[in-house]
Amino acid sequence: MLSLTLVIIIASLCLSLATIAFFHNPGGKINRIFFVLVFFVIVWLFSNYLQNEPFNLSLASLFLRTDFASAPLLIYFFFLFTINFQGNYLIPSTLKQVLLFIPPLILSLLSFSDLIVNQIGFGNHIITFKTGLLFPVYVILLIGYTAVGCGDLLLKYKKLKGIERIQTLYVLLGFSISAFIALIINLFFQHLLPVDLFRIGNYGILFFIGFTTYAILRHHLLEIKVILTELFVGIIALLLLTQLLTSETFPEFLFKLILFSSFLGFGYLLIKSVMLEIKRREELETLTYQLETVNVKLTMAYKELEKLDKAKSEFISIASHQLRTPLAAIKGYVSMILDGVYGKIDEKAKEPLDSIYQSNERLIRLVNDLLNLSRLDAGKIKFEPAPASLEEIVKDIVEELRLPIENKGLYIRMDRPKTPLPQIKIDRDHVRQAILNIVDNAAKYTEKGGITIELSETKNKAQIKISDTGEGMDEKELENIFRMFYRATAGIQFHTEGAGIGLYIAKKFVEMHKGRIYAESKGKGKGSTFYVELPLN
Ligand code: ADP
Repeated sequence: MLSLTLVIIIASLCLSLATIAFFHNPGGKINRIFFVLVFFVIVWLFSNYLQNEPFNLSLASLFLRTDFASAPLLIYFFFLFTINFQGNYLIPSTLKQVLLFIPPLILSLLSFSDLIVNQIGFGNHIITFKTGLLFPVYVILLIGYTAVGCGDLLLKYKKLKGIERIQTLYVLLGFSISAFIALIINLFFQHLLPVDLFRIGNYGILFFIGFTTYAILRHHLLEIKVILTELFVGIIALLLLTQLLTSETFPEFLFKLILFSSFLGFGYLLIKSVMLEIKRREELETLTYQLETVNVKLTMAYKELEKLDKAKSEFISIASHQLRTPLAAIKGYVSMILDGVYGKIDEKAKEPLDSIYQSNERLIRLVNDLLNLSRLDAGKIKFEPAPASLEEIVKDIVEELRLPIENKGLYIRMDRPKTPLPQIKIDRDHVRQAILNIVDNAAKYTEKGGITIELSETKNKAQIKISDTGEGMDEKELENIFRMFYRATAGIQFHTEGAGIGLYIAKKFVEMHKGRIYAESKGKGKGSTFYVELPLN
């Protein structure tokens, strides 16, 4: 009687779950396959139960054969379910899926012949039989289809991510629990059970059906850990409750009641803490995900910037190369005109021609700076040190800039050291460029007074000090003037066409010589002093 009640309860539960899953999405392939699968599970459960009821032999053997016949169909639908669950990678063709139905169907039909089981009889209150000729094929087929189904689920579990992965895990877990219960009970405990509860292990199938229904229904699945904890707490609570209800004396009842109530409290706390932990982890996962997204975006932006940067460098390099030739031609022709090579020139034309010459010179310096910048950027700058005289270099620069400076009404002075500086090993062009940029700035940003250049030597370094009586700078500007593209107030106000690269290049060139460059100023309107220090060896 107990056994019948159990079968009916299990079968109704399975049927209700399958019906819920089916009506959740009646058109869904998975939902339909699952429903058919559960149908065969129910047939199998009942025939399994009924074959041991004390009917007459022919009825009993009919149930035994139905039992054998339902298993291959059940397994086929299990297989069909697994390969279609979360996308079908293994056997996408419907035709092949239908063809694969043929072997289980044949074996199912053959269960009603003597090829699978025969010589059915009753012995020791349970049904007995002998295995037929095709029994090994029958077993191999069942194992094969199950193994492929489970293997497919495992692969999907490994490959999938997020919710689909958890859903697959549920199905796998449900199947494993069912298989485990069936194996343990059928292998080890069957003889200990009363005949009435023969093959109770099969009822573990409810776990598979339950877990799978849950996986089909919910998209926001609870973590498996919560379910397992709840299951664990539930089973123990049920056992304790049975104990409580079967107590014989009042003190025993009281003791068990305390035990039961404290376990309920403990269980509640346990489930709560597991849920909290999972919540934290989910929050962490969301954060990690967001971080990863930001990271990906940043990497993409960085790559884009790199590309732009490269394009910019190429553009600067090409543009400045293209500008050099015409600028050199202008310089050459204007100076020849000024020298009277093409005949005597009118006094009135001299001044504008001078101005053309000076502007052209400034443009040449800017183009040189741009070229140096692009070479520095690309790491292509050459460094060729050779012995050179700093005094010579500074003298050249003073001579080159004297005219425009004096034309502006300013003075330029060079204070040589008492004893001449020794020759030092430097890249002449680079040092020249660095000092030129500083002196040129002093000329640009001074309106009254002039520029003084002093050369001196200490124990191990030569120092060039360039002071002007010009615009000066505040603290913040002094901190930034050596940065690429930085322009301070004086720059923006007096020399709008500047690019903010002169001092950046000067600093790079000085640093190449392991030297030091820095500036001082007492403040706005109080002039500036620039220092270039180079090691003597
Ligand atoms: P640019 O002169 O093209 O702006 P630089 O890199 O040569 O670029 O100079 C950066 C900024 O430093 C200038 O814009 C200017 O404001 C400031 N500066 C440089 N030299 C002086 C100076 N002698 N006196 C005052 N300000 C200066």
